[in-house]
Amino acid sequence: VKEHGRNNYRFYTPEMTHMAIDRLDMEGNLRRALERDELLVYYQPLVDFTTGRIVGAEALVRWQHPRIGMIQPSEFIPLAEDTGLIIPLGQLVLRQTCADIKAWQALGLPPVKISLNLSARQFRQDDLSATIREVLDEMAVDGHLLAFELTESMVMHDVENTLDTLRELKTLGATISLDDFGTGYSSLSYLKRFPIDTLKIDRSFVRDIHHDNDDSAIAHAVIAMAHKLGIKVIAEGVECAAQLDLLREFGCDELQGYFFSRPVPVEEFTLMLKQGRSL
Ligand code: C2E
Ligand code: CA
Ligand code: CA
Ligand code: CA
Repeated sequence: VKEHGRNNYRFYTPEMTHMAIDRLDMEGNLRRALERDELLVYYQPLVDFTTGRIVGAEALVRWQHPRIGMIQPSEFIPLAEDTGLIIPLGQLVLRQTCADIKAWQALGLPPVKISLNLSARQFRQDDLSATIREVLDEMAVDGHLLAFELTESMVMHDVENTLDTLRELKTLGATISLDDFGTGYSSLSYLKRFPIDTLKIDRSFVRDIHHDNDDSAIAHAVIAMAHKLGIKVIAEGVECAAQLDLLREFGCDELQGYFFSRPVPVEEFTLMLKQGRSL
């Protein structure tokens, strides 16, 4: 989404280079999309470096617009966040994920952990964990099968409230991941202060890891430090074998990236689980 002035969002896709929808239209469109099942959850596999097997996935929302086609989250998540629509959107993604988890269980597939992104607005909701618990109870899904991804900027303000919210999420059985690690105001004190289970090294550090000595030194050090603190490390945006080899050498735990798979529709992810696809 490009922001033009304060209240005017326009979004562009290859199919509609010159068509622009103003913020009001887009908000109305998104509202309808939530009611009309136009939002889909895609899954991008998380792969264990040692076994090479799929151990989880990140749930990533997509908008299948009837006229425009597939719209990527960067085009509508900011608007959803600004308008508060991120709350029903987050609920929808959680419900869909739980339904998919049930379907995998019914097929007898080995359990995988699904990561859900939480945006700042969701994270600040007073009844966040209560609403999540309601859905988990209703759909009879074990909270251990979920991880919640947060960014550094979300946890840096208001330490007390952050701690409370994280503790509540953990009582659901879920784990906590720090997303996009290294891009924010990385203060290592977060890792000490908060009950973080997993750290996701941002794609920007992985991209040049095989060319740039500084990036590789940073990744190596981050992995070593995280492990000393008992924190698991996932590398994001792994696109080639050279990156994979280095990350494996550094002891990284899991990989996510186009090298293994792009985010895929649920049918495709289910097939990967059935086939036991591995690295
Ligand atoms: P993110 O949480 O950092 O998600 C990872 C993004 O990196 C995804 O983009 C994924 O498709 C992309 N990616 C994964 N592997 C590779 C790779 O090897 N190379 C490259 N170039 N990219 C890779 P996506 O799906 O477009 O999502 C963008 C952002 O939108 C996410 O960034 C997340 O912040 C947000 N988002 C997506 N779904 C949700 C959702 O359900 N709720 C909330 N609150 N935010 C969401
Ligand atoms: Ca994420
Ligand atoms: Ca990320
Ligand atoms: Ca990112």
